[in-house]
Amino acid sequence: MELQQMYIDGRWVNAQSGNTRDIINPYNQEVIATAVEGDESDAKAAIAAARQAFDQGDWKNTSATERGKIVRKIADFIERDKEELAYLESLDTGKTVEESRGDMDDIAGVFHYYAEIADKDGGEIIESPLPNSISKVVHEPVGVCGQITPWNYPLLQASWKLAPALVTGNTLIMKPSEITPLTTVKVFKLIEEAGVPAGVANLVLGAGSTTGAELSESKDVDLISFTGGIATGKKIMKAATDNVKKTALELGGKNPNIIFADTDFETAVDQAMNGVFFHAGQICSAGTRLIVEESIHDQFVEALVNRVKNIKLGSGFDDDTQMGPLISKEHLNKVIDYVETGKKEGVTVEVGGKQPEDPELQDGFFYLPTVLTGCTTDMDVVQEEGFGPVITVEKFSTEDEAVQLANDSIYGLAGAVFTNNIAKAERCAQAMRMGTVWINEMNVYFPHAPWGGYKQSGIGRELGKLGLEEYQETKHILQNIKPEPLNWF
Ligand code: NAD
Repeated sequence: MELQQMYIDGRWVNAQSGNTRDIINPYNQEVIATAVEGDESDAKAAIAAARQAFDQGDWKNTSATERGKIVRKIADFIERDKEELAYLESLDTGKTVEESRGDMDDIAGVFHYYAEIADKDGGEIIESPLPNSISKVVHEPVGVCGQITPWNYPLLQASWKLAPALVTGNTLIMKPSEITPLTTVKVFKLIEEAGVPAGVANLVLGAGSTTGAELSESKDVDLISFTGGIATGKKIMKAATDNVKKTALELGGKNPNIIFADTDFETAVDQAMNGVFFHAGQICSAGTRLIVEESIHDQFVEALVNRVKNIKLGSGFDDDTQMGPLISKEHLNKVIDYVETGKKEGVTVEVGGKQPEDPELQDGFFYLPTVLTGCTTDMDVVQEEGFGPVITVEKFSTEDEAVQLANDSIYGLAGAVFTNNIAKAERCAQAMRMGTVWINEMNVYFPHAPWGGYKQSGIGRELGKLGLEEYQETKHILQNIKPEPLNWF
């Protein structure tokens, strides 16, 4: 694979330092590509290009319809190159290619959606208390946007930021996770092909502590949009205070899934698995925290364990693989430590709880799908994100208790409730302090539904109209059409 370069001011460039980084396949640790490794100086060059393109360029004055046409082309190109993009995403993340194909459909959908809604935003006339005046509210781009994405859904997370920023007339610098840059590099080639002017969309590659920190600190960046872990989010928020940057944070989740005894049992077992084991649990909204009504707890755990032990691990490119590896050695070690903490806290490992012994899986960063029972809210294993293929199971006996347990968390990203009693489901959904609650469903996203977290799961929303508004300033313009002296003084 060719050297993965940065895209700054309309040119594909190497790092000023000349440094590079190997990109590793998590299935077998083979080097799949080499990427240039930028640092602060490259981030500064990209910020300068974006600043110049915003302040001096025409992008912000191009009509939303024109910008929408270009963004629609990006969507079309993603559809055209879907197989290549899905292949690259699976190679880089280890997830099954079937999952990656689904991601690419969602990603094209996000670009189509924002291309469509941007040209409908013409501002609005509001009633003015002054006679002979016109009062209107208009939306304008925020300016230069820094965008930092994680490794779990590299291109999906990028699309939630790129599409709304571009259609609203901003300029931007994106920094993908240093370990999964491949699809983002490819999409910047499509951005170039679609005709986005030089300097409008810039790509820097490199570590968070260098390139990412520069984007968060720079006084020439007006907005920082970040998706990643809480600890990094806090650092970014602090760094952003210097020039009071607008800050959008999509952080982690420890997402409860409440199962009532009156639910459709087989569906709930099936969805509990879907909620966690896609992409080996490396999903911010993974339903890793099962809260099961006491009367069906034992039966539920038994059914779950019977199915979990049959999940087929392997290469994301094998048709029968259901779950791939974790992203890296470092992350595998975190998941191992997380489960070991649970063991020390006294949980019971019903299935999994270790790395697989299968000789074919020894080169990859695999961890067995795991179910832990005997969990209580005071345990770290219940409170911490984990971010692996691990379910913790708690018990409840009343509806109030279920909601109270679900809300006992610093996170508030998403949750689910399974019951056939719709009134009860509605009551729970309203009482659950989370940005998304699914009823008898898990992990459904679409472009027009806002996504984001309550509590420490984040600030702001992506997707939907709110996801567009993150990239807009709102201006009130009042015009006196019959000006006269007031003669007050
Ligand atoms: P991370 O916080 O380690 O890294 C995310 C990005 O931040 C990477 O690009 C990294 O290079 C960069 N970064 C690291 N340190 C930085 C710094 N000091 N300044 C600026 N940038 C810095 O997260 P991760 O491990 O890549 O991703 C996993 C996390 O992302 C999980 O917590 C998951 O829940 C969260 N996530 C949230 C959502 C959501 O929508 N809420 C979606 C996906 C992932």
